[in-house]
Amino acid sequence: MASLEKIIGLFWFRQDLRLADNPALSHACKECDLVLPVFIDDPAEQTISQVGSASRVWLHQSLEALQSSLRDKGSELFIAQGASLDVLRSLIDDSGASRVFWNRCYDPQTIARDTQIKQTLSHCQPQTFNGLLLNEPWQNLKADGTPYRVYTPYWRAASAKMDASPDIIKPIKAPKEIPTLSAKQAANLSQCVSLDELDLLPDKQWHVPLMAHWKVGEKPALTRLRQFLKKGASDYGEGRNLPAVAGTSQLSPHLHFGEISPRQVLHILADGQSLNSLPDGELIFAKEIVWREFAYSLLYHFPQMLNEPLDRRFASFPWGKNTENHLRAWQQGQTGVPIVDAGMRQLYATGWMHNRVRMIVGSYLVKNLLIPWQSGEEWFRDKLVDADIASNAMGWQWVAGCGADASPFFRVFNPVLQGEKFDKAGEYVTRWVPELAGVSAKFIHKPWELDGQARAQLDYPEPLVDLKETRVRALDAFSVIKGTK
Ligand SMILES: Cc1cc2nc3c(=O)[nH]c(=O)nc-3n(C[C@H](O)[C@H](O)[C@H](O)COP(=O)(O)OP(=O)(O)OC[C@H]3O[C@@H](n4cnc5c(N)ncnc54)[C@H](O)[C@@H]3O)c2cc1C
Repeated sequence: MASLEKIIGLFWFRQDLRLADNPALSHACKECDLVLPVFIDDPAEQTISQVGSASRVWLHQSLEALQSSLRDKGSELFIAQGASLDVLRSLIDDSGASRVFWNRCYDPQTIARDTQIKQTLSHCQPQTFNGLLLNEPWQNLKADGTPYRVYTPYWRAASAKMDASPDIIKPIKAPKEIPTLSAKQAANLSQCVSLDELDLLPDKQWHVPLMAHWKVGEKPALTRLRQFLKKGASDYGEGRNLPAVAGTSQLSPHLHFGEISPRQVLHILADGQSLNSLPDGELIFAKEIVWREFAYSLLYHFPQMLNEPLDRRFASFPWGKNTENHLRAWQQGQTGVPIVDAGMRQLYATGWMHNRVRMIVGSYLVKNLLIPWQSGEEWFRDKLVDADIASNAMGWQWVAGCGADASPFFRVFNPVLQGEKFDKAGEYVTRWVPELAGVSAKFIHKPWELDGQARAQLDYPEPLVDLKETRVRALDAFSVIKGTK
């Protein structure tokens, strides 16, 4: 009978699949005697469940890791599937929970759903927290109260705030223990299913080699951060542009799923110093972490950016017609442009692509092939393990020149020059396009210039389009909308 008097709190895991620096979980543990940790696979949910196939595989492994961390704390992850509100109601009824806790998400669909859930479950006093970002999107605004659309002043304001109040980046420790329901109580939870029943893994085994590139979960995320800071952060300024070297942190999927928080990253990076006094490499890295914040700020204030260009002129952009074959060649890494194909194949094989190459393949799709950025966004969403609703939309709008603080449309990346600058010896290209192994550095980024016999020996496609002609075509297309409002 005694357990009936205990306060039971339901803690809802979302984009925060970790125990450390999890404010909602910590509050649940402080305020309740027993905590019911729950993950809901809600088919109508945009942020975590309605994601692409690569992210679903990551999610499976991340939930597995979380289950194991919870068991180490004497707890259990309760998994359910269905409309979040229905599932929560049923779990509350079955468990006798009288409190509900979660960390906030910021996409328009989730905000609307959560608002409704908060109202409907008001008898459980829902409490929500910021576990995803350094600052709430409504906390870092211009002096006139409007949101930033340009990154540099956004960074200046955000970093000044964090430097003035270092507590903003002070993470919370993981709860020592997380007492949960007894086995008898847990048996009453009629909605719960096993992780396998969520069916997150594909029938075909394509994910096995892909996931061999990764170690998923909270502990590997922290290890990856520490290894990166030890080896790579000081060279990050240069290393981050070289796709052949491991010059970036590869923390993006961990950050996306909340296996590590940006607070933890900046806290460990800054190590007691102010952000703005960090040496160059570390400072640039801190700025990248804050780009992620900027993406969420844009998403919150301009939710239409998920589908529509922020620069409204682009709504009437004259995109190419009958481009299906070109889109397919791009997706499959068969465009005949080595660095583009290398990037697309890296994405397919590992679920990740180097940032510089994301910009190159994006520019090629949108400008040389005149295919709407939304098609690229959709492909990335399905194939990236770090597919993130805010960063992906911002990245694609940046590439297409129609976003906030975007690269201007007339800046058409030349993939040959980009390759020659950032992958001089063609190491990255030959890693992902082995058909080109043996081609000299002089021709590795433009094999179409090899003499006839050498070219004929290569089992590699001719370029899909002429880079110079399509650049001019892109600029002509842009001139149609340039002066419009
Ligand atoms: C077309 C396009 C699509 C993109 N889609 C995504 C996406 O779906 N998910 C995603 O996380 N990033 C996306 N990015 C941003 C960036 O490419 C990745 O965050 C980065 O390559 C991840 O590798 P990393 O963790 O090694 O980054 P690092 O260089 O080590 O940076 C550290 C962290 O900072 C953040 N970050 C770095 N650059 C950016 C950026 N430009 N915008 C937002 N956050 C950034 C990421 O969380 C990253 O993990 C996209 C960029 C482009 C151009």
